[in-house]
Amino acid sequence: TAYAFNKIFDIPCKYVISNRKLGDGTFSSVHECKSTVTGKHYAAKLYNKRTVWGYESMLQNEFDTLKKVSHGHPNVLSLVDYFETPESLYLITDLARGGELFDRIAERSHLEEDEVKAITYTLVSAVVYLHSKNIVHRDIKAENILIQPNRELTLSISSKLLLVDFGFARKVEPPTSKIHELAGTLSYMAPEYFDKYKGHSLPVDVWAIGVLVYFMCCGYMPFDCETDDETKEAIQKGDYSYEPASYWSHISQSTKDFIDSCFVVDPDNRPTAAQLLESPFLKSAMPRSKVST
Ligand code: ADP
Ligand code: MG
Repeated sequence: TAYAFNKIFDIPCKYVISNRKLGDGTFSSVHECKSTVTGKHYAAKLYNKRTVWGYESMLQNEFDTLKKVSHGHPNVLSLVDYFETPESLYLITDLARGGELFDRIAERSHLEEDEVKAITYTLVSAVVYLHSKNIVHRDIKAENILIQPNRELTLSISSKLLLVDFGFARKVEPPTSKIHELAGTLSYMAPEYFDKYKGHSLPVDVWAIGVLVYFMCCGYMPFDCETDDETKEAIQKGDYSYEPASYWSHISQSTKDFIDSCFVVDPDNRPTAAQLLESPFLKSAMPRSKVST
């Protein structure tokens, strides 16, 4: 390999953790690692037990959910192994060396419509898989979609995408039950999050997909006001626009219709992830997506 692996942590296991950091989580750091048995490379999400003190249930939840979804869909992160030492917890998962979708969008200010379509198709099919298991992700955003590049380290239509970060994911059981606890990232949050009494469920992921598609098309957020309270209000009213027009005039109506359908304020009237696959926007994505997944 091009870089040296240093055994910087004393883990009595089959993996050597690299200094090379892939990213930072709220309570964790993610490093590249290598199996000493097979030589294969993975990602190691490392939790310091002292840091997560008081948040054990969140971690347990991430672990349980990750186990449930692993090896079921090519675009959903799989847990390969896990370790616990007196100080730390390690989740060994698939590796995505191409970084976050967020950075690819930021680099280029926005993506081409064909790319948006291919990415969205892949993401929606991953979400259909999660929802079929009654699992709601609750933190779909450009930072949690990683790229596994084919050859070149740039995003292309043939890059493979990986949906990661099950820290906020929940199993909704029974499927008609609602979650009442708030979690996620404000600018991606659906209106029903703020209705404590009604609660929320799978449709919050569909709303977040709408936010992401909007963001990929123009490079800025649909609901992003001066203050959090104003943002919340805009979300609850479904108050967004395709402006400035110069950013949106070249975007086709089927893309805007897709975004509009994700932004239906009443979750009961919002399409399901499976229904999104049937939209005119994604129907035309199917042949190309065969390449991207
Ligand atoms: P948190 O729940 O704290 O947000 P994440 O699981 O999202 O933690 O990981 C934080 C960051 O680490 C990600 O945004 C990404 O940049 C990087 N990362 C996480 N998992 C992987 C992976 N499997 N491969 C490569 N980078 C990863
Ligand atoms: Mg994250």
